[in-house]
Amino acid sequence: MTPATRIRAGVLGYPARHSLSPALHGAWLAARGIDGTYEAVEVAPEDFKRKVRGRFDAGWAGFNVTMPHKRAAFEFADERTSTAQALGVSNLIFARDGRIVADNRDGEGFLYGLGRQAPDVALRDAIVLLFGAGGAAQAVAHALAGEGARVRIANRSPEPARALADAVGGETCAFPASRGAWKAAALIVNATSVGMADGPAVPDELDFARAEPGAVFYDLIYKPLETPLIVRAKAAGLKTVDGLDMLIGQARPAFRTLYGAEPDDSVDIRAILLARIAAAAKT
Ligand code: NDP
Repeated sequence: MTPATRIRAGVLGYPARHSLSPALHGAWLAARGIDGTYEAVEVAPEDFKRKVRGRFDAGWAGFNVTMPHKRAAFEFADERTSTAQALGVSNLIFARDGRIVADNRDGEGFLYGLGRQAPDVALRDAIVLLFGAGGAAQAVAHALAGEGARVRIANRSPEPARALADAVGGETCAFPASRGAWKAAALIVNATSVGMADGPAVPDELDFARAEPGAVFYDLIYKPLETPLIVRAKAAGLKTVDGLDMLIGQARPAFRTLYGAEPDDSVDIRAILLARIAAAAKT
């Protein structure tokens, strides 16, 4: 292959240099023998349009999009998939027939993670207590509603929670959730940045002893992998799901879109990412 056929893609973030996505896509590219690259592209918000346009003009296939660019990517695109349109944010933009398309595969990633780590959770008619109403929470709420779950949204700011509840036919409650809000919830999901490394601290009132026996707790955060909320949930006897398989689950369709090939399932991506996380923790 010549450099002209090389497929270039990456992840847009600010910061982006600590992203796990290059290791993830790089492993699949190597396993498939694809002449392609996947790079972390750090872009300040004020440079977003110019730099992203420049790369698409130079023939890049597309980008995963992470904080804080998910809304900017959605607005930048010429077209939006129905999923992105419903969410108003995009985690994947790509070139198709000379136009830029915005998509969002976070919801798919969320369901993939649940299937990998807690396959016994039945979502149809289940009550799910969801912390957060930001971009990730929107993707999760729509995915859950699509599976027939009833979503109870607990968010610090009431307005986005109300809007999201209206969009998915759910209900709202305060954050941190009061005792009644945990009632009958089979699944509790954290889609806030509370407990993230360098993120907001966990409020004392967030008490997993209020969860129903047998409930599962899913934290979208994977930095750290064992979040303060996962530690609390385990201490209260809950089964837990970490955010790493969601990252892998959204990357799978992204890889197909960007490189036109299937991810290689013989590659133990989770093990590769765990090694990366362990190495980063030592530095
Ligand atoms: P957003 O900025 O869109 O939303 C942030 C959310 O966190 C909002 O609901 C916000 O509430 C809440 N929040 C922020 N600070 C506080 C606080 N001090 N107390 C209570 N609530 C707070 O971010 P995203 O939705 O994109 O990401 C949320 C989390 O999900 C991040 O930690 C991210 O790493 C993770 N994530 C993981 C993915 C994965 O693949 N595993 C994919 C995408 C995200 P308010 O509305 O009141 O501001």
